[in-house]
Amino acid sequence: MNDLSFLHEMETVSGEKISTCYQCYKCTVGCPVVTDMDVYPHRIIRHIILGDKEKVLRSKTIWTCLQCLTCSVRCPNNIDIAHVLDTLRKIAVKEHKEGERDTWRFDELFLESVGKHGRLHEIEAILKYKLEKKDLFSDTKMGMGMLMKGRMGILPHNIRDRERLQEIMKKVRK
Ligand code: SF4
Ligand code: SF4
Repeated sequence: MNDLSFLHEMETVSGEKISTCYQCYKCTVGCPVVTDMDVYPHRIIRHIILGDKEKVLRSKTIWTCLQCLTCSVRCPNNIDIAHVLDTLRKIAVKEHKEGERDTWRFDELFLESVGKHGRLHEIEAILKYKLEKKDLFSDTKMGMGMLMKGRMGILPHNIRDRERLQEIMKKVRK
């Protein structure tokens, strides 16, 4: 059943005037990962307007989005679609409706690593993720290739003023 209060909720939480969308498709046409999405960006906006909350919260699209902002700068109505998608992610997690829980978990581990070292320590984040998934060996060949080419380091490269960074991250998370 459609939830007609959903548009109001989304406009309030995201601060975006979603209702001004006139379905020009410019967002979808510019998106670099549209072929991996199950619901195209302009359709996500339409579903929000129609109150089809379940459809958008459970969509793969909100987890496929790279937050590159191409759609947002292309929108003739200044709707920050990337921000709308990010808002949907947060609501999906809050309501335990996320269709792609793994992506969310990897995001958390990514930020945890950046908070700890000041930049991503790839091996640590990937190993933690793989251990949680109980799937240590599926990408071994690719991982070894990256190590050999120096794309990933075994040891972390810590920045100097990590306390300051952690303070900033705490503020942002609030
Ligand atoms: S670009 Fe903007 S107005 Fe056009 S379909 Fe996308 S959200 Fe709607
Ligand atoms: S921000 Fe997301 S939806 Fe928008 S163009 Fe980039 S990947 Fe596509």
